[in-house]
Amino acid sequence: MSTLFLAHTEADGTLAKAALEALAATVQFAAALGTPFSVGLIGDNPGPAADAIASCGATRFLTISGAAFAQARYASDAAAAEALCRAAAATVVTVPATSRWNRVLPGVAHRLGGRADTHVTGLAAAAGQPQVSRWFYRQRMEATFTRSTRPWLLALEGGIAPAWQGAAGCAHAEAVALTLPAPRTSVVGFQAPASDQQTIRPDADLLFVTGAGWTKKQADGQVKVGEAGTLILDFLRLSRSSLGSTKSLVDLGGEGQAILPFLSHLNQVGQTGSTPRHAKGLATCCHGEEPHTVGWRFIGERRAISLDANCGWARGKADILYVADAFAVMKKVNELLG
Ligand SMILES: Cc1cc2nc3c(=O)[nH]c(=O)nc-3n(C[C@H](O)[C@H](O)[C@H](O)COP(=O)(O)OP(=O)(O)OC[C@H]3O[C@@H](n4cnc5c(N)ncnc54)[C@H](O)[C@@H]3O)c2cc1C
Repeated sequence: MSTLFLAHTEADGTLAKAALEALAATVQFAAALGTPFSVGLIGDNPGPAADAIASCGATRFLTISGAAFAQARYASDAAAAEALCRAAAATVVTVPATSRWNRVLPGVAHRLGGRADTHVTGLAAAAGQPQVSRWFYRQRMEATFTRSTRPWLLALEGGIAPAWQGAAGCAHAEAVALTLPAPRTSVVGFQAPASDQQTIRPDADLLFVTGAGWTKKQADGQVKVGEAGTLILDFLRLSRSSLGSTKSLVDLGGEGQAILPFLSHLNQVGQTGSTPRHAKGLATCCHGEEPHTVGWRFIGERRAISLDANCGWARGKADILYVADAFAVMKKVNELLG
């Protein structure tokens, strides 16, 4: 058994938190298997990143460097991953589940005659064989399984282990030569919303979820979408939390109703949305229906504000339910935060 941990450097030449978490999981996995592991890094100049994790216990550090590998591109990322897997003669390959690796992993497995599994949330060993855990049916069922096909490529979800920490040193990295055919695509730059417009913040401590109640007629018979938008954006700005939404609220826009313009389907949490990981969650004006709360699977401490004392949250979906008017509560919370 020969395990290879693969990672790419970020724009500043370092390894991202997701990569250090996947490295920590790989270190534990190799110890459980009782076999050595190698590290493979790609990037413009991955040498310093290799030195930063020199004490992780890897027996070899393999690198592929060059400007072409600084950027996410299917052709160069897949070719580099394939070359590193071959150079390490890897039978099990672990990668952090970044968009870059998720995109190329199945193709790399095909080139190597292996298999790939994504969304891996646990690694263990039994009788010297790797055992992998992942969730199915939208995080309702967890399975532990193994495969006989090698190489076996595994994309590890973020947050499954604390980020690796250790002393830097000299990794004695070995450069793996790779000549790419002339690229047919070139990266001309990035377009991203201003950071204060970016409402999805995976690293935030708190997930703040908005439900359709924010757009419903309130006790005085009025719809107050404008006030709702101000309260929600003020809270996000003051708390730096990440914004989630129920399907109902996201869908309302498509039905021509008054909606909160900063919400998109990317904010949707749930069975047909995302299942983010945050230490805490606060749901506001959501009913706490099962398909929605499936998205709360990995939220540590769950609280909700709803006018309905008989909502799904009250029936066991939240640790604490405040039966209260979310407009009044969030106004007060914003005043206190301000
Ligand atoms: C196959 C399938 C998949 C689905 N997948 C998803 C999914 O991935 N994600 C998802 O979210 N949903 C999903 N749904 C829909 C889900 O079942 C719910 O219908 C939806 O999440 C409900 O949205 P909501 O709670 O925002 O709205 P509502 O059910 O309309 O609830 C609004 C709540 O707001 C409260 N409220 C109103 N005003 C206030 C106020 N001033 N203060 C406090 N509370 C107030 C009301 O009392 C009510 O409880 C799915 C459904 C199906 C059938």
